[in-house]
This record gives sequence, structure tokens and C-alpha cells, in this order.
Amino acid sequence: MKRAVKRQDPSDSITMIHVESDCIDHPVTKDILARAGHVPVKVVTDEKNRMLDVGPYPNSLSQGKRHLLLGRNRGKFFKPCPGTKEYICCDYQVLNIGMNCPMDCVYCILQAYMNNPHLSFFVNVEDMLGELIQAFSDSPEQFWRIGTGEFTDSLALDRLTGLSRILVEFMRDKESAVLELKTKTAVIDNLEGLNHGGRTIVAWSLNSPVIVKKEEIRTSSLEQRLAAAANCASWGYRLAFHFDPIIYHPGWQEGYRDTIDLLFAMVPKDKIAWISMGCLRYLPALKKIASQRFPTSRFFQEEFIEGLDGKARYFRTLRVEMYQYIYKLLQRKTDPRTCIYLCMENNEIWQAVFGFIPEEKGGLPQMLDMAVRRQ
Ligand code: SF4
Repeated sequence: MKRAVKRQDPSDSITMIHVESDCIDHPVTKDILARAGHVPVKVVTDEKNRMLDVGPYPNSLSQGKRHLLLGRNRGKFFKPCPGTKEYICCDYQVLNIGMNCPMDCVYCILQAYMNNPHLSFFVNVEDMLGELIQAFSDSPEQFWRIGTGEFTDSLALDRLTGLSRILVEFMRDKESAVLELKTKTAVIDNLEGLNHGGRTIVAWSLNSPVIVKKEEIRTSSLEQRLAAAANCASWGYRLAFHFDPIIYHPGWQEGYRDTIDLLFAMVPKDKIAWISMGCLRYLPALKKIASQRFPTSRFFQEEFIEGLDGKARYFRTLRVEMYQYIYKLLQRKTDPRTCIYLCMENNEIWQAVFGFIPEEKGGLPQMLDMAVRRQ
């Protein structure tokens, strides 16, 4: 039965839309401006103008996240996820729909990646779909797992952009691919009533309730996310969940246990294709930026070591302890067809947590492919 969900929509926080002059007549731009209603619009005529004057980075991010730039992607939309060779990677493909996010998680890695504070969305969707068609036809044997949530949240701006409808309908008959829309919102209206053909997985990042409340600003509550997931399941979508980043904090055991209890109380387990776990990891630059922007957050003060990819991580013993604890809880409740996996860890950690390494099951990409192909 459909549940009533009171939704927080992060796109409501946008106070100004900037449009590159060569995109003003693009039909996607026109649709977005029509949906945005009374939000003021400024046409940007040159490169210099594109840089918003909202003070020095990174403090400018708080203001910048309220400004949306509509422009053209002049580079590539579709690329392999930039995993690192030092850790086991899931062979994901990234569809770059835009940059930055109207929500504001303290740990968000984008704060250290970007040098522009504003949000951007690429309106030349026809080029994006063209790239996908080309890639599918160039490699007809390949199975593609594609996600749009690498440089932004997949649904945070969807009320304005309507992109999910375009992508879900495009993917519906692509039997060699699945699209994963990953979000911390409950903005799912555009997904209702679509003929998705089972080719779209809707995914949520989950965390301990106290982390959601304190460190994930302008995101939907856990209850809202899970109610949205239950609605998507009732519309026939498969689901995925990501415990990432797992953060060490006082009461972490109870926190993650409560979230897992809530997950399986609200969502049908047979609809879950995969669940990932990944402990907090970050580029050194992030700690300084986040501490400056969010001085009351404490979790960066824990002890970290530098990983082989140059990112800070918890010590191995702590990572293993947290993964083992969460995995045990998940294992009790998860459908046996759901693939539970680790994001960016090595064989030693896999062995300690699961008692096997991915190669024994054909490799992580194969494990994930099987999880969606056999359901
Ligand atoms: S929802 Fe994701 S992309 Fe948005 S601020 Fe949080 S971590 Fe960053």
C-alpha cells in the first residue's frame, strides 16, 4: 500500500538559476525554468561571469549551493568510476549529470574535489543519451552498471530537472545494463507510473540516526528515505542501500542496529539487489575544509591512517570490527539473493569480514551483475 510521505525537497533551497546564454533556448532549460516558477534567472554570457561572487572557497559553498548553473557538458558524460587499483573496485560506470549538491553532508568528498561553489546541471541530455547508445553498441557483450550519483545526488534536483523520467524510460529496454539512482532524498514523484522494465535500481545511503541528524544537512530523515524506498518497491523497482560512510561515534553499535531494524521493518527484503558497506575515507584536504565549515563536528578528530590511495581511513582493526558488526546484523535479515559487499577494501578485509575474497565468487563486478541478472 502506498504510504504518505512528507518530503523535504533540497531543490527548494535554490534561490537563483544561472543559464549559459547558448542554452537558454534548449528545451530542457525551458522545462527547468518553467518548473522553477518564481526563482530569479540570470543569463551568463562569458566564462568570467560563471564564477559566482559569493566569497572565498570553501565558505562560499554554503551560499553557492543555493545557485544552480544550467549549461552544456562539453566533455564526456559517461566514464568508468575512478576507483583505485589498490582496493577492490566494483567496476561501476559513472554518468555525469552535473556537479555538486544542494544538500550539505559534513563528510562530503565533493567539498575537496570542487573549486566552484555552485551547483551545475547539464542540459544537453541528448548528447548524454547518444554516448550511452554508442557505448552499448561498441561493447555489446558488456554488462553495464551505471550510476549518476558520483558528483552529485541522483534525485536532489529531480523535481526541477525531470531527468530521472528521461533516464528510466531510456533504460527500460536496455537488457545489458542497469541504472542506479542513488540518493539521500525522498524525491521520487517522477519515478511513479513509469514503464521502467526493471532496468532501474533506486538506492539510498543510510547511516546511524545520529549521523543522519547531525552530519547530513538538508537530507531526508531515515524514515522518509525508507518510506520512499517502500513506495519505489511497490512500483516494481529494485532497491539498493549503501552504509557509506560508516562513521565511528559514541553509540555506533546501537545506531547502526536501529537503522538496520528500521530498514527491514519498512522495506521488502526480496526487492533489495545489493547493500554496500564502506568506512569513512577522505582526502587530506577535506578535514581542513569540513572543520572550517562545520566546527562542531567531531568525527574527524578520531585516529586515521593514510591508505594506499592517499586517503585517510580508520585503522584496520576498527574497520574490521565495524564491518563485522554491521554484516552480522544484515546477514540475519537479508534475502540470500542480495549481494552484500565492501566498497574500496582489500582481500584481507574481505576475508576477515565475509570469510571469502571476491575472486572465489568470480570477482566483485560479477557478484553484482549476478545479483541483478538473476532477480
Ligand atoms: S548527499 Fe551526497 S553529494 Fe550531497 S552533500 Fe551529501 S554526500 Fe555530498
